[in-house]
Amino acid sequence: MYKFMSELSVYFDRPSETKGNILLIDDLPGNLKLLTDLLSQLGYVVRSAISGARGIKSAKSKCPDIVLLDISMPEMNGYQVCEAFKNDDDLCNIPILFISALDETFDKLKAFQVGGVDYVIKPFQIEEVVARIEAHLTIQKQRKALQNEVFKRKQTEIELQQINDQLQEANRKLELLSNVDGLTQIANRRRFNDYFLIEWQHHQREQKPLALILIDIDYFKLYNDTYGHQSGDDCLIQAAQVIAKVPQRTIDLVARYGGEEFAAILPNISIEDALPVAKSIKQAIANLAIPHQSSLVSDHLTLSIGVASLIPTTEQSMEILIAHADEALYIAKKQGRNQVSAYR
Ligand code: GH3
Ligand code: MG
Ligand code: MG
Repeated sequence: MYKFMSELSVYFDRPSETKGNILLIDDLPGNLKLLTDLLSQLGYVVRSAISGARGIKSAKSKCPDIVLLDISMPEMNGYQVCEAFKNDDDLCNIPILFISALDETFDKLKAFQVGGVDYVIKPFQIEEVVARIEAHLTIQKQRKALQNEVFKRKQTEIELQQINDQLQEANRKLELLSNVDGLTQIANRRRFNDYFLIEWQHHQREQKPLALILIDIDYFKLYNDTYGHQSGDDCLIQAAQVIAKVPQRTIDLVARYGGEEFAAILPNISIEDALPVAKSIKQAIANLAIPHQSSLVSDHLTLSIGVASLIPTTEQSMEILIAHADEALYIAKKQGRNQVSAYR
């Protein structure tokens, strides 16, 4: 019966999933039956609708891969049905192939203007209809694959951004929880604050002297300007490691206080005993002999250091000791840098 079947085999050597889902819209039941039978026989899944309105409803409930659409129908003609498809967000991408009888007035230009992709004239050769269906199904598949690819890429970008955000958040939390300065690997300001509070309260109770040393690198901005920020970082790491090793007791704490400033908390020590520690810190950096050609006080990296010690009274707040050490540091800077000054 279907002698054309062998001629069409070129289209059907592919796996069954490549065969399309076709919606036929035609007001003549005879036409519908003929095409439905032929196309079903060839392996397509075919649905038919007897009017434009029904066709739209059917397409809405399950999206076809392609629509074969009759032109002259009562109520809605083919052009109107096509326009309705193109104006619907869910249906607008479905290719529409017009079928028109030879004796009908068929405006080809209009068919394309309303969004049709192709047309066949009745009486048609089924080979031609199938060739056109296949061509549009292929284009449609490629378009969908491309859309999928774009969607996947967008998804990947979104997922990557989310992972990045999560990582940053985790790092931020880790940093908050950490007691170690990320750059120099010595105690950080947070650890300094915690330890200072504990020792302050302890010395208040015990009525013993608590010493604080504030250390500031001289002309460090000029160091960065001369050798670059990366060298500045390296220099900070080196200096921190050396400074942290000077105080010997396990109860002593050296921390990065901020930028190019460091602080040492020396429990149970008077100013007389703290001064030699401060001088040793200054000397340890001098021994490193890190070149600093832009420094206005030396050829090498130097420190200005302020030292203070007091027995905390119950009325005093711990800021007073910081203020004393800071004042001593200010004097060391003012008197020419590269020196230790004690608050008395
Ligand atoms: P002074 O002798 O008065 O202390 O001069 P100074 O240049 O050392 O002081 P100033 O406060 O003007 O500048 C401090 C410099 O320290 C500026 C800043 O860029 C640098 N600095 C702070 N933190 C870092 C850091 O983590 N890495 C580097 N490379 N530089 C830092
Ligand atoms: Mg400073
Ligand atoms: Mg400085």
